[in-house]
Amino acid sequence: MNGFSFEDLKMIHRTRLGKEVPLELFRAIRLIGMREALPLEGKGTTASIGRKIGESLPVSTEEELLDMFATLQIGLPRVTHRDKHLIKIVVDDCFCKGLPVLEEKKVCDLEGAILEGALGRIMNRKVTVRETKCNVSGDEHCEYEVRWYD
Ligand SMILES: [Zn+2]
Repeated sequence: MNGFSFEDLKMIHRTRLGKEVPLELFRAIRLIGMREALPLEGKGTTASIGRKIGESLPVSTEEELLDMFATLQIGLPRVTHRDKHLIKIVVDDCFCKGLPVLEEKKVCDLEGAILEGALGRIMNRKVTVRETKCNVSGDEHCEYEVRWYD
């Protein structure tokens, strides 16, 4: 075996601390570790990591994927627009909610890349996900635009 599957990660046998870790630890990994320690605020690396995670999630429909986002407490996603080549997904209660506003900064690129990886596999085509709104930019919620071409 040379790695862990998502099912492996669910095998948790911590008798005293259980399965939860505080949100600030997740934020530290995401916003201090990945954004500050990697070149270009981690952009290319974060996209690769997110897509890989998305591809490995045990989901086979868009609905299961959105449910998984809520189960993993990344945020509460909902589709607000859908047409032939575009889906808009708003995420309420995103992990970034409550952080100080940094003008012009969007910080939920990893989560968008997770959507991209998972939706690409589910839809069996090349999908691009763009982060269009973020709480950290002062927007009212985080939002992604999902596009694909036939
Ligand atoms: Zn966010």
